[in-house]
Amino acid sequence: MTMPYRRVGTTGLKVSALSFGAWVTFGNQIGGDVARDLMHTAYDAGVNFFDNAETYADGRAETVMGEILKNSGWRRSSYVLSSKVYFGAESEGPNEMGLSRKHVIEGCHACLRRLQTDYLDILFCHRPDPDTPVLETVRAMHDLIVQGKVLYWGTSEWSAAEINAAFAVCDKYNFHAPIVEQPQYNLFHRTRFERELTPVFKERGMGTTIWSPLASGLLTGKYNEGVPADSRLHMESLEWLRKRLTGFGAEKKLAAVKKYADLAARVGIPLPRLAIAWCLKNPQVSTVIMGASKVEQLHENLGALDIMDKLTPQVMAELDQISRAVAE
Ligand code: NDP
Repeated sequence: MTMPYRRVGTTGLKVSALSFGAWVTFGNQIGGDVARDLMHTAYDAGVNFFDNAETYADGRAETVMGEILKNSGWRRSSYVLSSKVYFGAESEGPNEMGLSRKHVIEGCHACLRRLQTDYLDILFCHRPDPDTPVLETVRAMHDLIVQGKVLYWGTSEWSAAEINAAFAVCDKYNFHAPIVEQPQYNLFHRTRFERELTPVFKERGMGTTIWSPLASGLLTGKYNEGVPADSRLHMESLEWLRKRLTGFGAEKKLAAVKKYADLAARVGIPLPRLAIAWCLKNPQVSTVIMGASKVEQLHENLGALDIMDKLTPQVMAELDQISRAVAE
């Protein structure tokens, strides 16, 4: 199946329906060679959007990606590159994180250096910052766009009220408005996206680059019998994620995974493809950002594009029924 491209909201920017991100893996779980193979596999399959953040592996994820992009020989115009500021990178001073004008601009400059690029296609505010007036953040983003260091800006995990506050500032001062939100969205985490944020996306013409379509791998069934040694949840540094995914409520989720797996088997498709295809079915999703630590995982997941027609209204209704009982 050839890769479809979707517009990011009402902008002219087009991203591949499936994209690829560096969280946890680049500069941390996997070596540079594997990262390179993953990026090339993705690009060769038509992926044109690569996602990163200043905080991923304390900046190393951007360094690894920047090196791969530099050596790739790919035209800069052939891909869309994003990063995010808020959590900071290797340093933790009071002005080295957050969404103050100082950190947004210094953080962006550091992202550009690590990624070895003149501009980012999208710079996200990785979280809302209660310590900074929204006007200060929005003006800093606008200025980066006017300077050509950033082409578009977005929010990540902002509430509807926070996004609307940013738009109110943009309307008042004629600043560049955010074009995209990056929320978590998967069969276990859908309520905020569907109920709170979708009306805002429609009203404001925003697109979405959704994260953790497999709930960190839970939706592949790999955690049904415990935590495999070569998985992210086995990593010491990710104990917080292991606790979150295997703690309270995990049994209900694992039981649901088994139901999803039964359904996938009945329909004749691998579970990871089913879970990713479900995300793609939502027209408010501009792109599903995939993560992978192995090339085989990526090949498997790219196959979601081939099975879209198996998600009939009947299958979608069955997925919905299982999901509604457990999803946040
Ligand atoms: P997923 O939920 O898809 O999890 C990916 C992980 O699941 C892989 O690294 C792998 O883990 C496992 N996996 C994937 N495919 C398979 C398969 N076919 N079979 C078995 N296991 C599989 O996505 P991520 O959580 O990685 O998120 C994707 C991207 O979203 C990130 O890279 C980042 O760019 C973005 N993101 C943004 C956030 C934000 O706050 N804005 C937060 C988090 C992510 P393992 O190595 O354990 O095998």
